[in-house]
Amino acid sequence: MVESETPLARGSLRVSPELPEMRQDQVEGRWVLISPGRASRPMPHESSFLADEGTCPFCQGNESLTPPEVMAVRPAGAPANGPDWTVRIVPNRYPAVMPGQPVLISPGQVGAVGVHEVVVECPGHVPTATSLGPTHLESVLGLARDRVATLSSDPSHAWVQLFKNAGAAAGASLFHAHMQILTVPEVPHRIEAMLQRVESVGHCPVCEQIRWELEKKIRIVGEREGLIAFCPFASGFPHEVWICPTAHQPHWEGMPSKLLDGLSRLLWEVLYSLEKRLGLFPHNLVMQGSPRFHPLANHGHWMLRILPRLNGIAGFEWGTGMLINTVAPEAAAEGIRTLLGNS
Ligand SMILES: [Zn+2]
Ligand SMILES: [Zn+2]
Repeated sequence: MVESETPLARGSLRVSPELPEMRQDQVEGRWVLISPGRASRPMPHESSFLADEGTCPFCQGNESLTPPEVMAVRPAGAPANGPDWTVRIVPNRYPAVMPGQPVLISPGQVGAVGVHEVVVECPGHVPTATSLGPTHLESVLGLARDRVATLSSDPSHAWVQLFKNAGAAAGASLFHAHMQILTVPEVPHRIEAMLQRVESVGHCPVCEQIRWELEKKIRIVGEREGLIAFCPFASGFPHEVWICPTAHQPHWEGMPSKLLDGLSRLLWEVLYSLEKRLGLFPHNLVMQGSPRFHPLANHGHWMLRILPRLNGIAGFEWGTGMLINTVAPEAAAEGIRTLLGNS
């Protein structure tokens, strides 16, 4: 197949801003429906950020309400589990998995052993840490990186997921800004399928997509320190953004401080501009790397996915696995660039 015939080449520009399009994502092979006409439907999301009633276990001063901390950013010599901290990792009080050694119960049935922890992003009772600036965000991501690096070095954790649910519509049960780390003893099907897809097509589709984005320059939001932020061609969510290294890198948890600085600034810029445009908006952050002990581990290309959750995932999406996105990625990228003054 010659380069100009690839789906990305054919679909790099919209035929008409009003015409709904189906687009195929080259990383997973899934199709999405880009349907801007549905964007006029009202999308209230303020109710996603109602402050909790009662005492917040993540607020500074309430450290005794969480299990003893695993790690924290605090001044040298300050005692663990005291109030003097800026970022804190604690075990989840309601874990989805339990500590232990992986055990096969029967084919297709294994014990759900692993680690489920919370990264409390800041001491104050705020719903996002965006207001604290990119330097604070770097502390959050730095502590999460170090914890994920430790967990990933243990082969019993086949997959280590760092993610964030912000707002009730994105799955958050607590108002206070936090991320989560959850490990499972099996590589999830979706990750396995992505690695196998790279094996079957013979090259990394993320690298290919980045090449196209750099050439077309219509969906790029920003670039820093060998990282690129862009609205992917087949975005499944309105204003979806991916941040990834322009060079092929399977693992993110060993990233040096310069890269971490670039990642934190890009992430902050994207969140800041989206917040400016949408107000507080429910969203998920999903850090996707590569399983360290998998034979195809080098096929993975790490990325941080920012997934605004402005529309529900409803019957059509569950029935087909096909997401309906009401904002064309080209328009989303232009909007973010304009707000950042990068246009
Ligand atoms: Zn709080
Ligand atoms: Zn790659």
